[in-house]
Parts: sequence; C-alpha cells; structure tokens
Amino acid sequence: MREYDAIIVGLGPTGGTLANLLALQGFSILILEKEKSFYPLPRAVHFDDEVMRVFETIGITNSFLKYTIINKGTKFVDKKNRVLLDWPRPREITENGWYPSYRFHQPDLERELRKKLKSYKKIKIKQSSVVKKIINKKDEVNLIFEDIDLNKTFKVKSRYLIGCDGANSITRSQMKTKMDNLGFTQKWAVVDLILTRDKKDLPDRTIQYSNPKRPATYCRNVGKRRRWEFAIKKTEKIETILSDKYIWNFLKSWLKKKEAIMERKTIYTFQSALAKKWKNGRVFIAGDAAHLMPPFMGQGMCAGIRDVSNLAWKISYCLNNIHDEKLLNSYQTERFTNVKEYIETTMRMGEFVNAVGKSQITKNISADNKGRKSMKSIKPKLGNGLGENKDKFRGKIFPQFKYNKKNLDLKFSKKTILIVSEKYKKKIPKNINFYKNKNNKILSKYFEDSNCEGFIVRPDRFILSSIKNLKDVNDIIKKNKKLLI
Ligand SMILES: Cc1cc2nc3c(=O)[nH]c(=O)nc-3n(C[C@H](O)[C@H](O)[C@H](O)COP(=O)(O)OP(=O)(O)OC[C@H]3O[C@@H](n4cnc5c(N)ncnc54)[C@H](O)[C@@H]3O)c2cc1C
Repeated sequence: MREYDAIIVGLGPTGGTLANLLALQGFSILILEKEKSFYPLPRAVHFDDEVMRVFETIGITNSFLKYTIINKGTKFVDKKNRVLLDWPRPREITENGWYPSYRFHQPDLERELRKKLKSYKKIKIKQSSVVKKIINKKDEVNLIFEDIDLNKTFKVKSRYLIGCDGANSITRSQMKTKMDNLGFTQKWAVVDLILTRDKKDLPDRTIQYSNPKRPATYCRNVGKRRRWEFAIKKTEKIETILSDKYIWNFLKSWLKKKEAIMERKTIYTFQSALAKKWKNGRVFIAGDAAHLMPPFMGQGMCAGIRDVSNLAWKISYCLNNIHDEKLLNSYQTERFTNVKEYIETTMRMGEFVNAVGKSQITKNISADNKGRKSMKSIKPKLGNGLGENKDKFRGKIFPQFKYNKKNLDLKFSKKTILIVSEKYKKKIPKNINFYKNKNNKILSKYFEDSNCEGFIVRPDRFILSSIKNLKDVNDIIKKNKKLLI
C-alpha cells in the first residue's frame, strides 16, 4: 500500500493552500479531487490581507497579484438608494503588509495554487478520484478511493488525513460528526456577467441593497466581471427566477442586455453552520467541510485558509517529531471561536441586508457628526489553545515587517520565533529561532504601542506569548521550549 505523510481530500482553495503549506516543508502529500477540473460555478470573489499573507508564504503572490484588484469597500443602501452604512476599505497597507481587501476570480486562484503544487516532486494530485472510505487507525489512516476514469479502486495510507472536501464532506460524515445549524438559511440567485463595454455608471464598490422586497448585492469584480445576487422568496419558482427573461428584467436598472454577457447563473442556499468536531484521531476537517457562512462579508474561503494556516505548522511539527500530538488538539479550540465570530457577524449582516436586523452588525460601527455610519472590519482573536489565556496578546496576529529588505515572515514561516527589542543584551540558546530588533520602525512602534519588550510568534504569525519585561525572557523560553526548538 502506497504511504504518504498526509492525504488531503479535496482540491478547492482550502485543500490547495494546505497542500502548498505542507509542500514547503518537503512532505509527501497525496491530494484526491473528485472533479476533472476546477469547480465551474461562481463563488468567492473577495479575500483579505491576512489571507494574502498566507498566499505570500506559499509563494504565489507574484503571479496571482495581476489577477486581483484592490477592493474599495461596501455601501449598504435602503430601497431609495440612501446610504445606511459605509464599510470602506482604505487604500492603505495594513499590519499584514497588504491592502485590507482584494477582489479576484476563484478559478484564477485555484489555477495558481495548482501551478505551484506542480513544482514540488513529492506532491501527487489525483483528479477524477472520489474518496469512498476512511479508516482511522491508531498510528495511520487508511483510505479507499475510486479512480473514475479507470473505474478502479485503490487503497493508500498516511500519517494524517485532512478533509478539505467542502460542504458535503465525506470526511466529516465518516468522522460521524454533525453540523450545528446556527440559524441563517436563505436561497439566493447568483449571476455572473462580463461587461461588453465600459460602464462607468456602475458602482466601483460592492453595494448591499437592504430592500425588504428584494434584498440584493452588486459586486464590482476584477476587469469586466460584475456579479449580482438577489434573495428568492419561498413562494418563487427556481425555474422562473433562473430564466434569462427574469434575470434581464431584474438587471434592467443597471444594465441593457447588449452591455454584458451572462457567464453563469445559479441558486445557492446561504447557510450558517459549524461542525461539532473538527478532529478525530488522525483525521481533520477544514474549510467548508467544518463551517459554512453566507457570503455577505466574503469570509467563507478566507476562514478555510485561516484553518489550514493554523493546522499546517502543527501537523509539520508532529511529522518532524518536534512536538507530541497533543499540539493538534489546539486546532479546533483556536479556530472554532474565531470562525464563529465571523459567522455570527455575517448572519447579522444578512439580517441587515434583509432589512430585518434588530442588532448592530458589529461593535465597530461609529457615526460622524452628520450621523453617517461607518463600519470597520472585525479581527477576532484565536480561541483558547496554545499559550496563556491571561496574556492579552496571545492569539492576536503579529505584524509583518521587513528586515534586510525581506519580510521577517519568511524567517518564521517554518519555525516559531522569539522577537525581542533592541534593549535585550543577553545570549539566546543557538537552537532557538531568534530576532533582535534593529531600529525597525514598524517593530519599534509595535513594541511601544503594546508596551512589551518581546514576543514569541508562531509560524502562522499569531502571538504565542508576549514579554513585558526582558528579565522574564529565560522563563518564557523555558515555558515554551517545546514550541521554540
Ligand atoms: C455565491 C458565493 C460567494 C462567495 N463569496 C466568497 C467570497 O467573496 N470570499 C470568501 O472568502 N468566500 C466566499 N464564498 C465561500 C467560498 O466559496 C467557500 O468557502 C470556499 O470555496 C470553500 O473552499 P473549500 O476548499 O473549503 O471547499 P470547496 O471549494 O467546496 O472544495 C471542496 C473540494 O473537494 C472536492 N470533493 C468533495 N467531495 C470529495 C470526495 N468524496 N472525494 C474527492 N474530492 C471531493 C470537491 O470537488 C471540491 O473541489 C462564497 C460562496 C458562495 C456560494
């Protein structure tokens, strides 16, 4: 039986990113994907700075950047087009070293992820391969899959298996865990169009039409791509809604038929759900397999990328015998509350768009002296897991900054790092990944603002521990020895 370090089920954005993160460490990975090609229906169009930082780690930003545009933000308007709420995305580089928000076309990302994977010798991608059975053993995972083209079944094994197999995950069902429905369920039509001419009168931002009669969304996508989404009433028939006649009639206040080509139209049930268990022995779920949210904030895929950024380094530490497998228990506890906050915020946003919301979308909403309301993006911390919960910096993302013209991220993408202020004078044991600030402006300001003299930062860029006083460095090293070496 062929043996791999890890098997990934599903080559969507979550599986593709995880495979790239593990490939960076030189592991042998088998990826099983049931489709022959990319998922053909319209889906994610937005991602954020934190996710771009992960793309940078796996080395796809140079080639992928040209397929993205910087997103200017979202406006929520009422049925008379009066602005109810603004959610601007300033054109400023954030703590993550990138713009806060980007627009893209999901197949462009999936192509870049696959292209990069092909550069690794120990990565095997098997398409047209449907997973049938997963056998979770004490020391290994066995898996049976069917190659549809050959009409043949195969058995393989690995140390770990990660199901990135989407909403109807077979991995999740074989783990015998259930999805908790968090309460939002609504059918929406999604229509992707390509403009045939310049349409300067179309908004340059996303517009959420908070109209109780027909809640809708307009997305300004990359190049000439534009998307409209609208809610479907329970009494409406899907065949009627998806007819060209109905859609062009809906679009008539924005577009004439000759001004765009309809690329795709489909119906989605927007839902909010969280799997109870994300790990069973050596088997994990990530991405849509573990959680679902309506797309109002454009965070579903982003959450999947965050999952695997959290999980990949922990699996690597176990595969390299740096840490025992207890480390893997922190995956669900850290990710669960973080993604739950995104889901709940997105649900409140959905209620706002449906004009039925009773509570504020987030606490990050303020009004200027003319009463104009504006919202800031949320940045939830990781849930309890590694590090000490009483440390208020633990679980926050550490900023990205340059040293010797390179991003320091590169120095700790594989190994946890200790970063201290220039005031630190003592020696640090050789086997510890270590960086001492040398007048780096961003870093100095971060130390000053946080009133800290040092941090331990994990390979996924989250803070494991903050150091208030340099005399505590040795104690903190001792406490976190297993993760620092
Ligand atoms: C209309 C819409 C708009 C959205 N917009 C955004 C957005 O702007 N930003 C954002 O972040 N998110 C957005 N999302 C959510 C985003 O598309 C998903 O969260 C994301 O695609 C999930 O990625 P994934 O890799 O976890 O799962 P998927 O993309 O579903 O990939 C799962 C893969 O597993 C394969 N698979 C399944 N079962 C098996 C099996 N048994 N054997 C082998 N392979 C299998 C599938 O073929 C598939 O390729 C949107 C969603 C919708 C519906």
